[in-house]
Amino acid sequence: MPRPPLAGSCHCGAVRVVLPRRPRTLTACNCSICRRYGALWAYYAGATVRIEHGRGAVEGYAWGEKQLRFVRCATCGCVTHWEGVKRPGGRIGVNARLFDPELLGEVRIRRLDGARSWKFLD
Ligand SMILES: [Zn+2]
Repeated sequence: MPRPPLAGSCHCGAVRVVLPRRPRTLTACNCSICRRYGALWAYYAGATVRIEHGRGAVEGYAWGEKQLRFVRCATCGCVTHWEGVKRPGGRIGVNARLFDPELLGEVRIRRLDGARSWKFLD
């Protein structure tokens, strides 16, 4: 049987994200932005993830040195992913909360201490 696409979307459906494969791990980070978003990150090469939306359907947020841009749906506000500002096409973090947990299967969630040591705590 063909596998269904690993597709997820924001709450209103304006932004759709399709992954190339299941994530091997997810990252829960405690840095100042991730703890506020409550996102769980799955990392991929940017070119392997399909992010589909209409014109003007997303907004971005970058701060400080503006290395990363956090992208959210302009309608419902769900954070869909982050991407590099200076190196587009590099590694991105997709918010695994957009996906049906059954679709992702059993995935280990690792706790990243992004607030201080930048090391995994488990
Ligand atoms: Zn939306």
